[in-house]
Amino acid sequence: MREVRIKDTLTGELRTLDPDEEVGIYACGPTVYSRIHIGNARPFVIFMLLTRFLEAEGYRAKLVINVTDINDKIYNAAKLASESSEDCAKRMTAAYFEDTGRLGLGRPKAEPLASETIDSIVDLISDLTKSGHAYESGGDVYFRVSSFAGYGKLSNRRTEDMDQGEEAGSASLKGSPLDFALWKSHKEGEDTWWNSPWGPGRPGWHIECSAMAEAELGPSFAIHGGGSDLVFPHHENEIAQSEAAGRPFARIWMHNGMVETDTEKMSKSDGNIFQLSEALDRFGREAVVAYLISGHYRQPLAFGSEHMDEAVARVERLRNFFRENPVDASPGRAAGEGSAEPARGASGEAPPEQQRGGSVGTSPDARVDSFRDALADDFNTPRAMAEVFELVGEANRGEVPGASEAVREMLDLVGLSSLTQPDEGAETDETAQKLMEEREAARAEKDFEHADRIRDELAALGWEVRDSAAGPSLVPKV
Ligand SMILES: [Zn+2]
Repeated sequence: MREVRIKDTLTGELRTLDPDEEVGIYACGPTVYSRIHIGNARPFVIFMLLTRFLEAEGYRAKLVINVTDINDKIYNAAKLASESSEDCAKRMTAAYFEDTGRLGLGRPKAEPLASETIDSIVDLISDLTKSGHAYESGGDVYFRVSSFAGYGKLSNRRTEDMDQGEEAGSASLKGSPLDFALWKSHKEGEDTWWNSPWGPGRPGWHIECSAMAEAELGPSFAIHGGGSDLVFPHHENEIAQSEAAGRPFARIWMHNGMVETDTEKMSKSDGNIFQLSEALDRFGREAVVAYLISGHYRQPLAFGSEHMDEAVARVERLRNFFRENPVDASPGRAAGEGSAEPARGASGEAPPEQQRGGSVGTSPDARVDSFRDALADDFNTPRAMAEVFELVGEANRGEVPGASEAVREMLDLVGLSSLTQPDEGAETDETAQKLMEEREAARAEKDFEHADRIRDELAALGWEVRDSAAGPSLVPKV
């Protein structure tokens, strides 16, 4: 079991996870008012893969990603779609499960909905009003920021630079502009509300997460994560609420950088593929995952069709590698005869074959170790993936015994082991082939609408078109 270190936003230091206790991770999930985009998929992928890695290292881990299904944005979106806010939230929650399911990484252990956590939310607000950290005003309840000495410690902002934004509540009801709403009284035209000691209404966004994290992970847990845009005010307010109520709360704050689009450069078609479901249709799940782990999670990640094309080329390179260097997929042989790791000696050292010829490269074994070391070091996925591509490059230049098994082991850790079976079920039928040719012709004539329609037709038939530098190809939809 490796020592795993994560950079903590609060202290700015690398913090080590405790191997003796369950690593509870709470990551803020989406507000379900529209289909999610690639930027929302980044924390989902990062925290799912971090959990997978921790478990592979022998840690016990529990990942919780919530769904914010009570929010102003949902009321507004429901009005525009002429449906109830409950229906809108349900429809978009289902779409979120479907889209993230297509990433093929499994699901978090718990995915609580705010609408199903109301009792815990009301209890937490009651604790805060009783202890004087919150006050009722005109049916709303506000957190009294001046009552919490640690306010601002996560975001390191000066008070004059703090703006509570749209979640702030009504200025005339607040004791101070810095205070923020824990409970909002029911307003005319809002079609969902709950009863509370302060009258009918609904919770504020920040208190939802404090309550859901505690309900799933207890009053103290290892990691709280989310996008860096949530540091202020969302996470600053979560700390204030939970700590003021006497909960120790999260020990490490882990933030992923934003996926950045160049709005000036972004074409309409780039705008479409920014939606996760569109990106999955167009590029396939492997390329989407490969793209999202191509940069360090803490750094911003540039998004555009050229970046997706690069990701497609990288996964094609891996598929081609496994076409040339197949691994035995039968679990019997892999487990029974050790064929999954034929190049490894019992001692873990490189076997003699690899030491022949004088120039000893890095053994596949050592590559896997470096890969895991990189992930243990603040989850450095680009450094880890560099090991994969260096080994693939070496093996492409000359035989490296055990290379494909080592690459498979590494890809499995980042949810990409499907690339080891590059042509599984990939026999295309004639209809699909014809449609793809028709689509190519339409694209050549720049009739992109027609081309997109054919892509949808193919999708309905169970085929995904993947465009790469080598031309388009058909793969069965996941
Ligand atoms: Zn949250």
